[in-house]
Amino acid sequence: MARPPKPWLKGQVDDLVSLPQLDDTILLQELHERYKLKKIYTYVGDILVAVNPFEQLPIYGKEIQAKYYDSVKSSNPPHIFAIADQAYFTMVRNSRNQCAVISGESGAGKTESAKLLMRHIIHLCHSGTEGQDIEQRVIEVNPLLEAFGNAATRMNHNSSRFGKYTEVNFDNNGHVVGAKISQYLLEKSRVVKQNTGENNFHVLYYVFSSPKAQALGLTSPRDFPYVSTTPGLPNAARMYSSVVQALDTVGFSPSEQDNIHAILAAVLHIGNLAYSEARPDQAQVSSSPQLVAKISELLGLNPEELKEALTAKTTYTRGETIRRTYSCELALVCRDAFAKALYGRLFEWIVSHINTLLAPGMSHSTKKNLLEIGILDIFGFEHFDRNGFEQLCINIANEQLQNFFNEVRNHPVVVAVCEITHITTATHAHTHTHTHTHTHTHTHTQIPGLSPPLLTPAVEKYKQTFASHKDFAPARTSEPCFTIHHYAGDVTYHTEGFLDRNKDELPADVVGLCFSSNVPLIHQMFEANQDGQPGKGGSAGTMNTARKRAPTVGHQFTSSLRELVAKMQRCMAHFVRCIKPNYEQEPNNYVDEFVDRQLRYTGMLETTRIRREGFSFRPSFADFMERFGILAYGPSAQVAPSAETCRTVLSKSNVGGWLVGKTKVFLKYWQVEQLDKSIKLY
Ligand code: ATP
Ligand code: MG
Repeated sequence: MARPPKPWLKGQVDDLVSLPQLDDTILLQELHERYKLKKIYTYVGDILVAVNPFEQLPIYGKEIQAKYYDSVKSSNPPHIFAIADQAYFTMVRNSRNQCAVISGESGAGKTESAKLLMRHIIHLCHSGTEGQDIEQRVIEVNPLLEAFGNAATRMNHNSSRFGKYTEVNFDNNGHVVGAKISQYLLEKSRVVKQNTGENNFHVLYYVFSSPKAQALGLTSPRDFPYVSTTPGLPNAARMYSSVVQALDTVGFSPSEQDNIHAILAAVLHIGNLAYSEARPDQAQVSSSPQLVAKISELLGLNPEELKEALTAKTTYTRGETIRRTYSCELALVCRDAFAKALYGRLFEWIVSHINTLLAPGMSHSTKKNLLEIGILDIFGFEHFDRNGFEQLCINIANEQLQNFFNEVRNHPVVVAVCEITHITTATHAHTHTHTHTHTHTHTHTQIPGLSPPLLTPAVEKYKQTFASHKDFAPARTSEPCFTIHHYAGDVTYHTEGFLDRNKDELPADVVGLCFSSNVPLIHQMFEANQDGQPGKGGSAGTMNTARKRAPTVGHQFTSSLRELVAKMQRCMAHFVRCIKPNYEQEPNNYVDEFVDRQLRYTGMLETTRIRREGFSFRPSFADFMERFGILAYGPSAQVAPSAETCRTVLSKSNVGGWLVGKTKVFLKYWQVEQLDKSIKLY
């Protein structure tokens, strides 16, 4: 790409790598200038930076889509459609799988970017009527998953509370033949508790607009503690219809949809279960028999057994059955664990059912011949005032992706690598010891909030295991926490609740009860625990475990991440970095400090550093000779481009430190600058 004159026109350069200078300040200023001009997309080399406009810009219409059809990247302004264009046609021409990694913090625009990317890919491959059905079904997966997996938070009114990798499959002609979703770490805790000013998952409000609401006993969100913080959602009725339409289009049968409705209603009703103390440490359900009957009916359970499973725990030791009753406090914890498990498993089942419905048909059963484009829409780096187990998992995922990003570019950058697998193993090991030594105690009397005697060993264990790890620092305070030096900065994690969140345990009594359900779907959802195997959902990170040796959340999450990265390593990767310009989610407001921090977290500043220090300009011999051959051979000489002729040119100029490879010349950006100067002087 031709280099711009110096000084360049602020905000007019589409690819910042082509600037004569690029440092942190220039990067920040250029993005700001472009944002003012409503140019929200910018290339930094092959990375697309997308600044969220928080307003509808007229840049996504059909006529724009037509411009990004098999086009040369530099012939159009930077755009998310250009990434789709490049990925799709490279896949078709080179028969090579592609993936797009979309990152950024909450509200930065990842999900919107993923949808635009998907929409344009479908536009590009759209031909004839044959594939239309499957294309439409693939598109409809998005609103479906958003209804069940997104919620309004303080950061984003439509925040994805799970990570997602969508693979779209194509045949050799480039037509869509199927799709597959993998989901990561659904934030189930939201089902039972939301932070101030935040909501539950959208669908738990939409379902009140169902024509079946009355039969399901769903009066108004106000009557249900899990959702009563909000009187309802605007447009709930319209959104409800769109979810049902999406379910229909994707292929969920009427009876499957009935099951989904029943489980959602049951979750909401469970939040109304109340307890009183029959005796000290012996809770009994004090809610009306009608409520218990309703929940039992919706889930196909026996009401007496339900009450029993929610108020006591049975253990078997040396042939002896020991029944231990819960205190009211523990009974409430058990109730919430039940609601979370139901919702989490419903979500997993929906994802796995989508995968069954959208799997490439029999005629494409030789999956080897299929091509694919994967789109990763996953939570960005998180650093709050207080960080827990979830933040650790999320940040480890970002570490891995950052590593992947650096690897793909072949840049020898050392980033802080923290191996969560070890941490979770440590956690797991500790958990294990704990369950053994306390077999006869009420494990639950330790929650909510673990008592200090348990916290100390957890932190001690981390300290022992990681004392010598350069990226691990024990806390300097007496608080139970530790710090990890991440590539994006230091984060201190509080270990309170770590073990429980990692175990994510559901009492065996509740699992057993649900397994006995006469609703096949409920039975199936709890089947996995019966043999200690992970669920059949094909999804990762959200599995509950009833058995002591079932994999922990951390373990499952890291192994699914490893699988994901291995898969992406076999693809050609494209990177989209989404940036949120302000906290208020409003248009025309760009806060420099806010953006600066995100650029650091997304590794962008690191990338510019690489550019300063690495060989950022790598022309082929032909390109090099065309541009600089004149320096050694004069303007009219006809010289064949080769390693030899390139060396001659470089030797004649006064730059040092270059490399000549087998097919390309490797130059640092300032060397290019010097060569350009020499040409001007020529
Ligand atoms: P989270 O991590 O919370 O899921 P996210 O990065 O996925 O956040 P989005 O939901 O994609 O964020 O975007 C948040 C909101 O920003 C959208 O609901 C939309 O209002 C706005 N937005 C994002 N991208 C665009 C865009 N390209 N044009 C207009 N508005 C946008
Ligand atoms: Mg999102």
